[in-house]
Amino acid sequence: VFVSFEGGDGSGKTTQISLLADWFSRIGYEVVTTREPGGTAMGLELRRLVLHGEDMDPRTEALLYAADRAHHVDTVVRPALERGGVVITDRYLDSSVAYQAGGRELSAAEIENLSLWATRGLLPHVTILLDLDPAIGVARVPGGLDRLERAGAEFHVRTREAYLARAAAHPGRIVVVDAARTVEEVHAQVVELVARRLGI
Ligand code: C5P
Ligand code: MG
Repeated sequence: VFVSFEGGDGSGKTTQISLLADWFSRIGYEVVTTREPGGTAMGLELRRLVLHGEDMDPRTEALLYAADRAHHVDTVVRPALERGGVVITDRYLDSSVAYQAGGRELSAAEIENLSLWATRGLLPHVTILLDLDPAIGVARVPGGLDRLERAGAEFHVRTREAYLARAAAHPGRIVVVDAARTVEEVHAQVVELVARRLGI
């Protein structure tokens, strides 16, 4: 079972992933939680380059995310799925469509195809989109902002719109959850949706 969490910065992905992972463990699944960019040692180097390195062209950025994803799928995600585990990832290809296409205004079709090429077409069974007004999300982010989080309000508004458009286009995979509610309320809805979609 492959689950991805998506949403803007500060939408609560990390918190909700840890709660859902605990839920899967309690019902007896092996769970691997991971993230992009930076779910591997090489990915951490790519993450540093893309988030804290020099300014770069959007295409360079898109390729670095794609490289991170290719290596992540190859060395972490597919092996865990092949062992029969549950993989929950903090961001996956919908992040690229939201940020590099929506935010950076590259072509959504090209970004999606790049990602499908990088992953040999691996898609999550279910994607939880934690939807939140970016003004609220950015205010929630602890500590300093990275290069992307500093990108400006309009960038984050375009990203959110791209996420919602993507959810509308893929209703069988992506479910939108209102992330403005309490942690407990969001978790309860996530469990209900995941259980229903996966038939467990
Ligand atoms: O979720 P996390 O904070 O780890 O993401 C790191 C940063 O990378 C975020 O600022 C996010 O906006 C950005 N990002 C991106 N494109 C992706 C994935 C993440 O711009 N495909
Ligand atoms: Mg962040």
